[in-house]
Amino acid sequence: MNRPAAIPAQTCRDAPILKQRGQREVFCGLTGIIWLHRKMQDAFFLVVGSRTCAHLLQSAAGVMIFAEPRFGTAILEEGDLAGMADAHDELDREVARLLARRPDIRQLFLVGSCPSEVIKLDLARAAERLTVEHAPHVRVLNYSGSGIETTFTQGEDACLASMVPVLPATQARELLLVGALPDVVEDQAVKLLSEMGIGPIRVLPAPRSAEMPGMGENVVYALLQPFLGDTAAALDRRGARMISAPFPFGEEGTTAWLRAIADEFGVDDETFDRVTAAPRARARKAVAAAAETLAGKSIFFFPDSQLEIPFARFLIRECGMEAIEIGAPYIHKGLVGPDMDLIPAGPTISEGQDVDLQLDRCRAARPDLTVCGLGLANPLEAEGLTTKWAIELVFTPVHFYEQAGDLAALFARPLRRRALLKLEAA
Ligand code: SF4
Repeated sequence: MNRPAAIPAQTCRDAPILKQRGQREVFCGLTGIIWLHRKMQDAFFLVVGSRTCAHLLQSAAGVMIFAEPRFGTAILEEGDLAGMADAHDELDREVARLLARRPDIRQLFLVGSCPSEVIKLDLARAAERLTVEHAPHVRVLNYSGSGIETTFTQGEDACLASMVPVLPATQARELLLVGALPDVVEDQAVKLLSEMGIGPIRVLPAPRSAEMPGMGENVVYALLQPFLGDTAAALDRRGARMISAPFPFGEEGTTAWLRAIADEFGVDDETFDRVTAAPRARARKAVAAAAETLAGKSIFFFPDSQLEIPFARFLIRECGMEAIEIGAPYIHKGLVGPDMDLIPAGPTISEGQDVDLQLDRCRAARPDLTVCGLGLANPLEAEGLTTKWAIELVFTPVHFYEQAGDLAALFARPLRRRALLKLEAA
């Protein structure tokens, strides 16, 4: 049968990591609310923050707001902090008003932010107090979406990690898929696994609080995103066990991820091949079409989404690209180690950021494609470099076989656009 490809002799897992700290260019963890609120249908995200936080949410999510949004901002003014007791009272009143107006809310997340006045508020205590006050109808949890020393995908990690301690206990042997994916993509994964006879399959976050998965030592879990380190640690503390695998991007990554789960559940090779053969072939074909543009091109990743290492693995191995630098905000080898195992040694692996030094390296290397945040993309484009916004990769469905071609196409598009512009200018 087609087992995932062999591990190269020298891989990125053992390569030295360039660790840098300095000025950084990243979004904050509040960004995660934009995709989480769509996934959890009876949850509400109440950001406890400043006007800046409200503006960020409004502008980032403005286009997606519908009649009854499932997020909002409780703005704390300087004056509110004259007395902390007043601030807590104000928060309690705000929550009571919200819950009276919105009886559909079953889970309320108090989301902390980084203004110093908010940091002084004990939101964990507030969440406990409010849970007691509004039980059993609403559970109140808290996490931080602060932009200090974090990157934007950590908002999802912090949110999911906050839910783990309150998941009900179970002795059942279950597979838990962890990470918020668009429903249609999640359904594809569940279907493939179910066709192999694997189950019961649960997901975190569940669409409704009543469907939250159980947790215990017979639960095995597979991460869908490489940025869920705190959630993984929280699940481990509850006795669950992680199935370690490359992340399900591209044909190879998806096959390796499915294979690791299939092995855990004793699925035979014949069944595995029967279920995966057709979608694998479709994925290979779709990737090959975009890879025509990508093959032989160089790529440079600035640290941003924490998806950099699995994406680099996909682009190097399935699309024929050459990575110059793979920068990631944090490198958690317990999570991305299997992806690093598949990347041949060679690219610079960097963790954290000193943005000026990294820009110097990027300018010196003149990569064909640079993956970076919005703040860096425009200046680099003005200097003649071709860029891809990292945040777009998080908002676009890119997991599993059926999206493998779209993932490759996302990277191919800016290269095609640049080639067209050059043609027109000639
Ligand atoms: Fe800005 Fe911090 Fe609010 Fe994010 S949490 S919008 S970084 S003030």
